[in-house]
Amino acid sequence: MSEQNENVEKVVIIGSGPAGWTAAIYTARANLDPLVLEGVPKTSPSIILPGGQLMLTTEVENFPGYPEGVQGPQMMEDIKKQALRFETRVKSLDVLKCDLSQRPFTLELSDKSTIKAHSVIVATGATANWLGLENEMRLATTGGGVSACAVCDGALPIFRDQPLAVVGGGDSAMEEASYLTKFASKVYIIHRRDEFRASKIMADRVLNNPKCEPVWNSTVVDVLGEDKITGVKLKNTQTGEESELPVKGLFMAIGHTPATGFLNPEQIELTEKKFLKLTEGQRSLTSVEGVFAAGDCADATYKQAITAAGMGCKAAIDAERWLADQGID
Ligand code: NAP
Repeated sequence: MSEQNENVEKVVIIGSGPAGWTAAIYTARANLDPLVLEGVPKTSPSIILPGGQLMLTTEVENFPGYPEGVQGPQMMEDIKKQALRFETRVKSLDVLKCDLSQRPFTLELSDKSTIKAHSVIVATGATANWLGLENEMRLATTGGGVSACAVCDGALPIFRDQPLAVVGGGDSAMEEASYLTKFASKVYIIHRRDEFRASKIMADRVLNNPKCEPVWNSTVVDVLGEDKITGVKLKNTQTGEESELPVKGLFMAIGHTPATGFLNPEQIELTEKKFLKLTEGQRSLTSVEGVFAAGDCADATYKQAITAAGMGCKAAIDAERWLADQGID
């Protein structure tokens, strides 16, 4: 490292989900000495943990390499261990603010320190939106049959041939409901209005499926059950009337919020829904040279652990090539 590069990190990875740790594995093996800022656990307004959304998942059956499935937190421990094997450095801190207006970039951390970086990989993920009910969060974090990802959890044995419910009226809710019909005896789609927001084709697919039944003008006001969900308490948004719907699984599909609040949208381009905008096709480049994005913070479509890991790999390779072009090694 030349004198002028002293105290400037070659690559800082913000985030510690599958995207962040995969970027760490690749950049560490490329001798870029990465620093991962893995974040600080939070419980309010929703639960956010280093390791990301998989820390709130129970069984993961769709990540290749685990033929028997794996618990989400265990998988994150495994990926982190793999990154640490190649001497990735880790700080358990959040990034509060970034100055991306000049290079090297400046990151302000939650312990009030600042660091400088030649390149940054943003892999901060997104958080599924939840209703914020106490029993919803309790059952979601204990494998009680409440989830925010049907594709991740829907095929689990506890949901087979059972009545299930999806909350939401957008494309995600339609997709999740259609997916769940493969396993469920019945899928209720609980929506707060009397028409879906989803595209017509996806809404029609659900409305024409005999296993699906919309529950219009309704919000979930409580989730029932001790160890496992037994039903939901609904409130009619028109009449205020309350009722109970027995279900053995509840899937939230009320949108995701990308963790990009620490970025200044005047410095780096975000989409209308605040995801990082990728500027060059399938690559990880953002509107700022030297800043790369990976995983759910830049992905409103797939949102899977395996796609996040793949994006982390791409961001690491893009960063490595960019640093080499700058003569930084
Ligand atoms: P979305 O379009 O924002 O829909 C969120 C849904 O959740 C809305 O129906 C909304 O109700 C409801 N909702 C939000 N907050 C709620 C609350 N607190 N309580 C009850 N209901 C609540 O989100 P999305 O469905 O995740 O889709 C996100 C983007 O990805 C969209 O652009 C979508 O087209 C795209 N997407 C595409 C595909 C595909 O093409 N295959 C699949 C999935 C997603 P209201 O309608 O009343 O606002």
